[in-house]
Amino acid sequence: MKKKYIIPILIIILILLLTTSVLLIYTNNIKNLTTESTLNNLGELTTQDAEKIENTIQEHIRILETITNEIEEEKPQNEEQLFKIYERNSGKTEFSRMAILYEDGKTTTSDGGIVDLSDEKEEFFKTDEIQISRSRKSKVDEEEINIYSKKINWLKQNVVVMLVVETNKYEEMFTKTIYNGRGIECIVTSSGEIIANSRNEKNGENIFNSLEKANTKITTQNEEALKTMKSQISQNEKGQITYKIENQKYYIAYQNLGEEKWNLVIITPESIAETLNKVLQTTITVSIIIILIVLVISSYIVVANIRKKEKVYKLAYIDTLTGLGNKNYFEEQGEKFLKEHKNPKYMFILDIDKFKSFNQKYGHETGDKLLKEIGKKLIEILGEDCIICRESNDIFAILMETKKPIRKVAEDLCSKLEKVEIDNVEYIIVISLGIYKIKNNGDRIQKIIDKALIAHSIIKGNYHTKYNIYDENDEKQLSKEHEIEENMEKAIDEEEFLIYYQPKIDLEKNKMTSAEALVRWEKDGKIIPPDEFIPVFEKNQFIIKLDIYIFEKVCKDLAEWKKIYGKIPLVSINVSKEHFIKNNFISEYISIAKKYKLSPEEIELEITESATVDKNIDVIKIVENIKKAGFIVSIDDFGTGYSSLNLLQDLPIDTIKIDKTFIDKIDFKENANNLVDYIILIAKKRGLKTVAEGVESIEQIEYLKKMKCNLIQGYYYSKPLKKKEFEEYMNNNM
Ligand code: C2E
Ligand code: CA
Ligand code: CA
Repeated sequence: MKKKYIIPILIIILILLLTTSVLLIYTNNIKNLTTESTLNNLGELTTQDAEKIENTIQEHIRILETITNEIEEEKPQNEEQLFKIYERNSGKTEFSRMAILYEDGKTTTSDGGIVDLSDEKEEFFKTDEIQISRSRKSKVDEEEINIYSKKINWLKQNVVVMLVVETNKYEEMFTKTIYNGRGIECIVTSSGEIIANSRNEKNGENIFNSLEKANTKITTQNEEALKTMKSQISQNEKGQITYKIENQKYYIAYQNLGEEKWNLVIITPESIAETLNKVLQTTITVSIIIILIVLVISSYIVVANIRKKEKVYKLAYIDTLTGLGNKNYFEEQGEKFLKEHKNPKYMFILDIDKFKSFNQKYGHETGDKLLKEIGKKLIEILGEDCIICRESNDIFAILMETKKPIRKVAEDLCSKLEKVEIDNVEYIIVISLGIYKIKNNGDRIQKIIDKALIAHSIIKGNYHTKYNIYDENDEKQLSKEHEIEENMEKAIDEEEFLIYYQPKIDLEKNKMTSAEALVRWEKDGKIIPPDEFIPVFEKNQFIIKLDIYIFEKVCKDLAEWKKIYGKIPLVSINVSKEHFIKNNFISEYISIAKKYKLSPEEIELEITESATVDKNIDVIKIVENIKKAGFIVSIDDFGTGYSSLNLLQDLPIDTIKIDKTFIDKIDFKENANNLVDYIILIAKKRGLKTVAEGVESIEQIEYLKKMKCNLIQGYYYSKPLKKKEFEEYMNNNM
């Protein structure tokens, strides 16, 4: 998972945990509250109902006492008089009837019935106290009844006065509605026998047994609760317990109903708290939904924010093509880097030479892929501990710390980037580096970049130097270059560029047959040599304009000489490799030659061997085209460009110009092995003419003559000459 997601996710989880625990605590509290309030309600209800029932029982007892007292006082002589007393006292009571039980079991009732209770009579006769019987079936009308009874002496015999109440009458007093009939209210004796119940079920069972039986899973909690209930009821105490039957929790409250050892018991399932629970559940559900919604929304906002930040960051700091940082990124991270790193630190400017022509040749898509691939390779080669960005177009900036010799690092980088594979095709590229050793950690990044750029611009376009480490002179040179650039256009307009001609002598004929046109810049009366300005013009492409200008001037001179002398030397004109980037330069040269009525065969074009180093230019094709146009073609500086032999093989050229370095190295000892020998030999084999450049001594001439070199160009015969001087030279030597 990405680092940036961790903190927001942790926060969200934390919020979730917090809200969940708050919810749990809340739920628990509510539950406890519910239990408490249910038990309270239950207690209240029990008390309320108990009072009602107790009062009724007291009333019944009182009536029984009144009746028995009055019987004993009034001494009625027959049953008819006896029942009169009952009728008098029982007016508004719920008694069904009164009955007199005789010692033999015969029982007469106030509503005229006679039943036999001989099998139960013991129970009624056993005490003088008032008794309330458990529920039983009436032998008169099969109803379930309770009997209030008292033994008295009447007409000199023991009889029991019985007041009969339908059990129903108690049951009617229960608050059946309060729990929607879900609870049970009952009257039990102190030993647990059920006297009356709210459910119209048969009475007589033992409540403790029933509870015990219903409780399938015996838990200590339940056992404890039942024990408490049993002991409290047997001692006529008031109490409450919770009791579990098959996962359903019940609340049980009980209370004694006076001296008569009857107890009111109310049992209710926990679900009576359902409404409350429902409210609670709804609250929880709604809360959870709200939490989830909040969670989803906040996650969305967090993610969207991260995305947005990333996007903004990317736009501001990332180069979309290579995925590397851009200049903003470089400036921000660079300053940090400088402060944090102690070892020698360097700023590199890395430039792909001739990226423009690479783009033209292989298309922009491949060009983009090249940049991408180079970005990738840079990370691979340099590792993490440096900052890389694409500074602009095909320029990368690198800030690095290294203890290794910097030249070694630079060479390594150049050679590792020499071959780049794109879509399974290998491309050869040349990169150049401007390097600045950072001296001051407080330097602004832009200043450091500028220094490396200066170091780079010194060598830009120079095939032989791949890197340059900044020194103070670079800046001087650069300002010189700037001065040159500032003046070059004006120099053309004001005809400051002059052509010098340097004769070439044919060794066999021993006379001048050809010459090379060389440019000079005459500025403020001083001559600036081409080595100072040509490299600048090659960097800024002004060379294209200048070459054409020189070509035209030469054509003009040739046309003039043709008119005057009737013949002309074969003049060679330098063509910079910068022309090769655009294809139409040949047709321009042809049309200029035509303008001066010269045929291309009368003009030689010199192409430097280093032009062939640029693998992205199809030199063979270009030379073929020049040849096809009719120009004579010679390869200049032969032997310095490292591709000499291949060139000889493939290029349709006429002449090779052996570079001065080979001439300078000639060893005149006998049997010496001079490279010049081989160059001439190979050229001959291919039928090419050879020109030796920079020949300054007679020994060299003798040697070259022996080797059958065709032409000599050098100070020995002549330096490059101004037009007028050259014309004179022509007169004498051609
Ligand atoms: P290059 O084409 O190799 O020209 C030969 C250079 O060698 C000339 O330098 C010439 O003066 C010099 N040279 C000839 N003989 C001797 C000798 O015996 N000893 C020594 N020490 N030097 C000798 P220059 O004229 O300064 O030209 C320098 C370079 O500038 C040329 O080298 C050529 O690459 C370039 N260049 C000159 N004119 C033009 C031009 O019109 N267009 C282009 N594109 N390049 C030019
Ligand atoms: Ca030349
Ligand atoms: Ca040369």
